Formats: sequence, structure tokens, C-alpha cells
Amino acid sequence: MERTRILLVEDEPDLARVLVDYLLRDGYDASVEGDGARALERIRKEPPDLLLLDLMLPGLDGLSVLREVRAFSRLPVILVTARVEEIDRLLGLELGADDYVCKPYSPREVLARVKAVLRRTGGLPQAGAKDPAAPPLVEIDAASWVARVAGQRLDLTPKELKLLQALADRPGRVLSRAQLLDLVYKDDLDVSERAVDSHMKNLRRKLSQAAPERELIRSVYGVGFAFEP
Ligand code: CA
Repeated sequence: MERTRILLVEDEPDLARVLVDYLLRDGYDASVEGDGARALERIRKEPPDLLLLDLMLPGLDGLSVLREVRAFSRLPVILVTARVEEIDRLLGLELGADDYVCKPYSPREVLARVKAVLRRTGGLPQAGAKDPAAPPLVEIDAASWVARVAGQRLDLTPKELKLLQALADRPGRVLSRAQLLDLVYKDDLDVSERAVDSHMKNLRRKLSQAAPERELIRSVYGVGFAFEP
């Protein structure tokens, strides 16, 4: 089987080496490019299966690289940033990145994200191939305020249902608390991000009761939440 090719665009050689070694050990065909413009050239000529893209780069910055790449390819991209507070702004730009990793990271964490993104975007076979006739894991009927997980009806409050819907409509995408406030609480003026957390906590508890083996809503530390079907 051909190995999955990962291009790491990172200008800090020590950091790059550690991560590439880790990816290679896990069986990926990983390589590094330290310059944004050269990375773009390389991606055009020979697109990898996944791109790990640092934002601060010489030549061409990561955001510009991503914009150019998105003009011709949907290849999975994980953005790497040194500032967790920047992720909120990045999410708002809707750049089309598939996930975000914040420095300092552990190679283990990055590997887990790589695997999750590849699984989601179809780069890896699904664990337990999907039966096309099987009902979807999560069904939401917003008109009748009913949500089901694995066929089991959930007892959700209207806010919990709306939160679930907002995330499930955008599978795999990380939504910040601010975005969830916009999507779910736009009619409520005095809702805090803490209220989002409290509703989310209840929603995630109910989901894990219905589907204990799955983490359907992933919490991204310092950033927000993502629905992982
Ligand atoms: Ca950098």
C-alpha cells in the first residue's frame, strides 16, 4: 500500500525534525519545506495527502499559502499557529482549514489530529466500514425538536438541540464559543460564553450516554468544539 504523504511546512528546523521523525516512525511519508513560496510550488507539482502548515513562514506566510492552495485543491490542511488566541480570528475567516494545532504541541497530539483529519476527509479507511443502509448515527429533526443518536431519542433542551445542530451542520469544523453564540443564541442578549460551556457540557453528557464509545463532540482546548461524525 502506498504511504500517506504529509508535507510539513515549518521554518524551525528542530521542531520540523522532531515531528517528521515522529510521522515517519508511524509509517507516513513525511517531508519538510521551510519556505512558504517553495512549499506552494511543491504542492502544485505534487500535492501531498495532507498539509501541516505553520502560519509564520519566510517567503509566503501560511495564510497566503492556504489561500493559494484552496484555489486549486481541497487537500486536507492542518494549520499550526503559535498563538491560541489567534485561532478565534482564523475560524472567523473561514479559510477552509480542516483543523488547527497550537504551539507548543506534542508530536503525539499532532499525530492524533492528522489521523482524525485523514479519517474524516476519506484519506484513511473508516474503522468499521460504513453500511450505506444503516441509519445515520445522529439524526436531527429541528421541526419537531427531536434528535436521535444511534436510533435512540435524546432528551435535549431547545438550546442543546440547537448547539448540536450548529455543530452537526458543519462536521469536523471547529466552532468557537463566539461563533456558537452567534449561531445559537442570537436572540438572547445576555448570554455568556460560560452559558455555552454549561449547555455544551450537558449536551456532551447526553450524547455520551447514548453513544458511550464515541466522542461525537470534541472539545478543542482554548478554542471551541467540533462535531466528529
Ligand atoms: Ca514558523
